[in-house]
Amino acid sequence: MLVKLHEYQAKEIFAKYGLPVTPGVVVKHLSEVDEALKKFPTGPWVVKAQIHAGGRGKAGGVKLAKTEAEVSQKASDILGMTLVSPQTGPQGKLVKKIFITPAADYTKELYVSVVLDRARQCPVILASSEGGTEIEELAAHKPQAIQKMYVDPLLGLQPYQARQLHLNLGLARDKINQGAKLFQDLVKMFLELDLSMVEVNPLVVLKTGDIHCLDAKLAFEDNGLARHKEYAEWRDPDEEDARELEAAGHGLSYISLDGNIGCLVNGAGLAMATADAIQHFGGSPANFLDVGGSATTKAVTQAFKIILSDSRVKAILVNIFGGIMKCDVIAQGIIDAAKEVGLSLPLVIRLEGTNVEQGKKLLSSSTLHYQFASSMDSAAKTVVAAAKEVAK
Ligand code: GDP
Ligand code: MN
Repeated sequence: MLVKLHEYQAKEIFAKYGLPVTPGVVVKHLSEVDEALKKFPTGPWVVKAQIHAGGRGKAGGVKLAKTEAEVSQKASDILGMTLVSPQTGPQGKLVKKIFITPAADYTKELYVSVVLDRARQCPVILASSEGGTEIEELAAHKPQAIQKMYVDPLLGLQPYQARQLHLNLGLARDKINQGAKLFQDLVKMFLELDLSMVEVNPLVVLKTGDIHCLDAKLAFEDNGLARHKEYAEWRDPDEEDARELEAAGHGLSYISLDGNIGCLVNGAGLAMATADAIQHFGGSPANFLDVGGSATTKAVTQAFKIILSDSRVKAILVNIFGGIMKCDVIAQGIIDAAKEVGLSLPLVIRLEGTNVEQGKKLLSSSTLHYQFASSMDSAAKTVVAAAKEVAK
């Protein structure tokens, strides 16, 4: 799973790599604002929502404050607000922490990020001399304004490449050593920490002429935990989906989606095909859930509980292909689980494969209410209709 960091955490890590950032104070309660001002007594300041999503500025989550009273005012405005940006989804994100930091005075906004180029199997730097909050617009309508520089994963960013990038971005010649060092340090950090993404938007040129990281974003794959013990400390459970965390604890692979049809499937490929089939018939899956190839009754029960804890779910589709996993075992799991969780939503079941006849027999002789589907298409069609009926 891709895990993001807060800006204040990213900035701490940036500082360790010698990257130019402005330190600040993280505040969780208004009572801590005075402490923060004591630590950074000279304004103006910026008050910034700390959530795992970008686009905070446009959504009202980043505010300049000229006086101490304004800092308190902006802090009370932003703490506890629900920020809705294109990256948070329509439900938005509750702001539980803010970052208070001295404001920077700058003359130019640029953009730089490092991501993996999977096709070329190497890191790539994306950079533009037109950074700031309109970067998505730029990427969509003027992609030629974003330049790419590929990095040898063994050698890192070479000094000549770093200087080239500096000049390509139109940065001042007398700052070429500073700029080149910054780009090399960014790549060094990306490689050493096995990051999936590092983004500085905007990278700014200060009034003094120095180049500075005004914002900082980092993301990593939690598969890398074995190599980086620090990953565990960087996570913020407040920002992660509670159902995803719960599922991971039970060895289930679960990802929240925006729809209203709960899916319980075995195998990642079948789970994706199921989501596609639901979409095809005009429905929308509430989740991706792969119970795995050797799901036990207990795992199926947990899976049902997690699906049902999502109040948006209006109908459930169980789509199982019994290979090593036998259909009668799954059928018994569904019956037990439905009883235990008191299932009342429409349930559509499609079973195929090993011991399917025994599985069907178990289901039909139980007291479970369900509709049986004999194909993937009819299963998807039936559950989409059932969800629409309940949603009425
Ligand atoms: P994002 O919207 O989530 O990417 O948050 P940013 O940290 O990038 O801030 C958004 C915008 O707020 C920036 O593009 C700037 O225009 C403005 N901003 C943020 N910090 C400062 C600062 O220190 N000084 C000034 N003048 N503007 C700032
Ligand atoms: Mn930004």
